[in-house]
Amino acid sequence: MTAPTHAHWEQLRRLTHAIDARLPLTGAPPELVALRHLLPSLGLVSREFATDPRDQTLRDRTVGTLDPTEVRKALTRVLQHDQFIAGKFRSLVNSGAVQRLCRRAYALAVLDDDWPSALAVGDDGRIPVGMVVRSLNRAVEGRTTGGRRRCPAAQCTGWDVSVAWESGQDTRICSEGWHFDPESRELRIVGGGEITARVVADPSQDVQPLPRAKWPSREVLLTHPAWWSGG
Ligand SMILES: [Zn+2]
Repeated sequence: MTAPTHAHWEQLRRLTHAIDARLPLTGAPPELVALRHLLPSLGLVSREFATDPRDQTLRDRTVGTLDPTEVRKALTRVLQHDQFIAGKFRSLVNSGAVQRLCRRAYALAVLDDDWPSALAVGDDGRIPVGMVVRSLNRAVEGRTTGGRRRCPAAQCTGWDVSVAWESGQDTRICSEGWHFDPESRELRIVGGGEITARVVADPSQDVQPLPRAKWPSREVLLTHPAWWSGG
């Protein structure tokens, strides 16, 4: 098996949010099929655990404390079950257990203190100004303004980052809903709203991008410090 790449981890996060947005699932939607194929590519399913009789790892309150081996054991068992008991995988997706395990695996591989370990912050806690940000469907481009704080949403452990969008709007996007790609140095929203990444906060508060006709001109946009400093 080749080593999992950041594109794989980004896809994992994108799929877990896409699946959560469609619960409860019936049948086998494409996101579920894609997730089943992705887990082995990420090394999260291993034959070595196939006969382990312990199954204590799926309880809610423990998922956030599982180590990498325990996460792999649990996911291996989830997929193994499904070869014999039709629909078991889907029912564990509908309960949210599979997504929690996937997010724990992501956190262990990619994050440090709930923040992307590959994205350095300054001594003042701010991030570089002018980094490229992509909206959920890549339809709108943004730039970081440097602002960063703990997400204020109840029960969220993520970090909010301030973004100036080419639509002329400013939002704070929660790290629970975006992925940092170290190769391109882009922040990419992977769930929770086109330019808001609100995966934990109240979805009714979502803000949609303005129609293109209402966007500021390029000349006006480039007077914004987040846009001219990033190039
Ligand atoms: Zn949050």
